[in-house]
Amino acid sequence: MPVISVTDSTANPCSQSPQVCDLCESGDFQVFALRGRHRMKLQTVICQGCGLVYTNPRMSEQENREFYKNRYWGKFKNKTVPDERFFRRRLPKIKPILGQIRIYLRPGVSVLEIGCGVGALLHSMRATVASDGTFIGIEPHQGHAQFAREAKQLDVRTGLLNEISHELKPASFDLVVMNHVLEHTPSPTEVFLTVKNLLKPRGVFVVEVPNIEAPGSRLSHFFHVAHHYAFSSRTLQRLAQKTGFHSNRVAALDGDLPGTRLNAIFEKLAPTAPVPALTKFLRDDPDERAAALLRYERWYWLTAASLRKKVTHWQRQRL
Ligand SMILES: [Zn+2]
Repeated sequence: MPVISVTDSTANPCSQSPQVCDLCESGDFQVFALRGRHRMKLQTVICQGCGLVYTNPRMSEQENREFYKNRYWGKFKNKTVPDERFFRRRLPKIKPILGQIRIYLRPGVSVLEIGCGVGALLHSMRATVASDGTFIGIEPHQGHAQFAREAKQLDVRTGLLNEISHELKPASFDLVVMNHVLEHTPSPTEVFLTVKNLLKPRGVFVVEVPNIEAPGSRLSHFFHVAHHYAFSSRTLQRLAQKTGFHSNRVAALDGDLPGTRLNAIFEKLAPTAPVPALTKFLRDDPDERAAALLRYERWYWLTAASLRKKVTHWQRQRL
């Protein structure tokens, strides 16, 4: 695939300027796709420096804020005013990650969930310790945050992480959780640094994102305007490594299809811990990533994965 440099202003057909990679700061990328879900114009690229798959150009901070506060749950997800039925339908979806987190939920635990939606996971975590702990959520959508506060009596602050983080005490959380939220943020690096500041020493950061090694859908559906980044186990570990976390575990877990959930448990390194040398940073080979995506696309159609996914999803909702 042709390699494009961010310094070449004529190479990109979009009106916004291309950005450098959030992970390795390289300005060189190869274009993988020009359209996303609903045939929307969306340029997906693969970084030549580290192999990260991301949207480029992507929304500005301001556009991102407007999108998540006003449009994401409305036009994009068609659910502006949540109700009890919507909350209950979220419960099977959060069950797998709740299983991963349970060992950290001891009485008196202090938990922050970033992008908590209507509070299904936050509510379930609180119930696990019979409300013996501190449970705070952050959610940009006014309607969803309001439901969590009023219907579930949860402490949910309306806004984005960078608007709310100053209200929270540094080094005060045992556990921070982001469940399929990191890929929606304009700068995952900034998110990790903010989370590190909020965690206690040896505090745990549980992150789950879609797995680019097993996208779980056809690529024209997987790439969409709300997802700015698509991580592999290597690129997610690299993000943790460069921001001062130890990777306790990064695993591909089954969702509606095998391996579609990338679940990671990171631990905040002590300030005295040595920072890994830059040369030891992990990377994906960009050409191999592009080839692997095309292999997955073929596998998806040849194995009728779309149908199997629908069946699994339906079974999970019935449980
Ligand atoms: Zn990169």
